[in-house]
Amino acid sequence: MASAEVPTPVPVVELGFAVEAPGWRLRSEQFPSKVGGRPAWLSECGLPGPAELACPLCRRPLAFLLQLYAPLPDRADAFHRSLLVFCCREPPCCAALRVFRNQLPRKNDHYPYEPPSEEPPDEEDDSLSLQLRSGVHLCRVCGCLGPKVCSKCHKAHYCSKDHQILDWKLGHKQSCTTSDEALEADLDSIAKHESREDEIFQKFKTQIALEPDQILRYGRGIDAIWISGENIPQERDIPNCPCGARRIFEFQVMPQLLNYLKADRLGKSIDWGTLAVFTCAESCNLGTKYTEEFIWKQDFTDTN
Ligand SMILES: [Zn+2]
Ligand SMILES: [Zn+2]
Ligand SMILES: [Zn+2]
Ligand SMILES: [Zn+2]
Repeated sequence: MASAEVPTPVPVVELGFAVEAPGWRLRSEQFPSKVGGRPAWLSECGLPGPAELACPLCRRPLAFLLQLYAPLPDRADAFHRSLLVFCCREPPCCAALRVFRNQLPRKNDHYPYEPPSEEPPDEEDDSLSLQLRSGVHLCRVCGCLGPKVCSKCHKAHYCSKDHQILDWKLGHKQSCTTSDEALEADLDSIAKHESREDEIFQKFKTQIALEPDQILRYGRGIDAIWISGENIPQERDIPNCPCGARRIFEFQVMPQLLNYLKADRLGKSIDWGTLAVFTCAESCNLGTKYTEEFIWKQDFTDTN
């Protein structure tokens, strides 16, 4: 359809968490595009659960990689629209990638009709977003759905046993009690841990400021740029959306970002060249849930 041929503007990508942009700018209600940190979920309904966010190879939880705010201006039901990419960062798999799409009309149960304020909120509340307004609990480690709860304090929620163990080692062991104060201290230590982890994006941001289009290339319906002649997907390699529509290219993550992540964040075993995300040409609205889309990974080869 014609709509597929109209490239929309490149969304501004905000990098990191806390260090790069004030925390409030990266929360859901600001509709951020960002790399790293925790996912800023668009809709609170139908979040992908631990099973959908588990690595198909090693079964450990996938890590949030980035998200893009990519509304479709000519579609009333996609006034807000987000794409979230997750990957496995545990060697040796590191190949597993999943991408989810969610969209909302302008009038919805989650956000005001008017655009968000450019002013910071008065007080810094719930900066860790461990519980959504709907009451849904999120994992303290990764910010994804947290259906498991610490059996001792019944306050700390987790997506998985893996993250519960990780959090226990990071300090929940000391502060796991029934006291709210101890839990507060515990959350502080997680916040510090997270901002330290994302400080690495400081350097990267300065680098890409010169050529921001180098990390992400956006254009719904345009062609992907491949970095190698090998492993280029054919049309038959891109599965149709469950709604029946074909999927079209929407954006790609460029080697510069991946190399950066590879070196400093995700471990040495990742060797992606580029990641290309293909989404439903109709951007179908399958209820309120997060719809899985398709991601193609093209590696660098030695011959490059
Ligand atoms: Zn894995
Ligand atoms: Zn988790
Ligand atoms: Zn506990
Ligand atoms: Zn579809």
